[in-house]
Amino acid sequence: MNLTVIGTGYVGLVTGTCLADMGNNVTCVDIDEDKVKAMKNGKIPIYEPNLEELFNKNIVGDRLHFTTNLKEAIQNSSVIFLALPTPQDEDGSADLSYVKGVAHDLGKMIKGYKVIINKSTVPVGTSDIVKDIISSHTNVAFDVVSNPEFLREGYAVKDFMEPERIIIGSKSKKAKSILSKLYKPFISTKRPIIFMDERSSELTKYASNCFLATKITFMNEVANLCEIIGSDVDMVRIGMGSDSRIGNRFLYPGIGYGGSCFPKDVNALVKSSDEANYDFKILKSVLDVNVQQKKSLVPKVSRYFNNNLKGKKVAIWGLAFKPNTDDVREAPAIDVINELLLQDVEITAYDPEAMPNIERIYGDKIKFGKNAYDILEDADCLLICTEWSEFTQPSFDKIKKLLKNPIIFDGRNMFDLEAMKHNGFHYESVGRKIVK
Ligand code: NAD
Repeated sequence: MNLTVIGTGYVGLVTGTCLADMGNNVTCVDIDEDKVKAMKNGKIPIYEPNLEELFNKNIVGDRLHFTTNLKEAIQNSSVIFLALPTPQDEDGSADLSYVKGVAHDLGKMIKGYKVIINKSTVPVGTSDIVKDIISSHTNVAFDVVSNPEFLREGYAVKDFMEPERIIIGSKSKKAKSILSKLYKPFISTKRPIIFMDERSSELTKYASNCFLATKITFMNEVANLCEIIGSDVDMVRIGMGSDSRIGNRFLYPGIGYGGSCFPKDVNALVKSSDEANYDFKILKSVLDVNVQQKKSLVPKVSRYFNNNLKGKKVAIWGLAFKPNTDDVREAPAIDVINELLLQDVEITAYDPEAMPNIERIYGDKIKFGKNAYDILEDADCLLICTEWSEFTQPSFDKIKKLLKNPIIFDGRNMFDLEAMKHNGFHYESVGRKIVK
């Protein structure tokens, strides 16, 4: 099939590349000229494991093309994916201006039947809005389908290739048949396509992300309580997770959830609920708790240094909002850095992929290292904000030699308490005893 993907971010580029790998002829459109130029030269604009290899393979195979020209891109394709940003607006709602803007463009351009498949995360009713906008420009037949994306950054290629389920919101037989054919290589009995109406499909995406954000936040509160009453959150987590009704995933406490999805999606569902005169109390608490949790690491550091961090030098491991991505949108590391800078702390930092994105925000306010050890020399302590696997088994001897004091504040519970005691560290983590 000839396909068009509009928007080549984490979702669009992965969608385009994976569909090209199944033999489709895919044209990816983006308004960012530099991005398109780079991709035309075979340069991938984001870090996502296994994507580069697939990207190169399909460019060489002449199945993956890039352009800034929307009209040209949709000319020979009757299947159009929207993978456009839906960032948080000032009032917390999802900003639909990108989606609406492209809907106007498509309405003016389409000449024959198209199925327009929305992969962006959008509030309930957006399919109808897109339909109305396109219809206001043309009488040509078309369908708008809600097909929310569930891939995780860091596992995006695997998640797209082996989705746990594909959700399709549409009442159109023709659209459903086109999508069934397109997604056939990705599904199996264990990985079904679930058909539903557009409004249910749109809510499924928000309800899923909000539930996961709630699960994380619940465990963060359990961890906070553990710190006060002397329980060990690791034990509690293992005990809880062995109940199949609860499951053992998403029970790891830390310094709050971040990223380009959970924060904005929780806000957007709260806003949509308010607009529908429904007071979604749990989600409002999730928002409040997460703001606090992202601020929970620095007070521990401050307390250790007698509430005076001025002039201290702090090393940070991990800047991305989670491992295996260069994405720093709403990353807890940003809250940590902001608070440390406010208290006149000198910061050195290392992240395997996210340093360029953090440098774009802070310029020379932070010094970066070439590796994890580079940044430790003469630092008063080490803070861990992202649980990259390369931090899992570091040389504690080397860390001790380089740091001014053997002190680690770990926002991701990476190390075993006994081992830290044995290694002679002052070690504070989340929801566990302090090792002194
Ligand atoms: P992104 O910001 O990484 O990429 C969006 C791309 O769209 C950018 O390259 C931008 O230049 C381009 N763009 C903006 N306006 C355009 C226009 N008019 N024409 C063509 N291109 C345009 O976004 P993303 O992370 O890929 O997310 C896209 C959507 O998918 C969002 O709604 C998001 O909530 C949702 N989503 C994201 C993830 C994720 O893990 N990132 C997962 C599931 C769903």
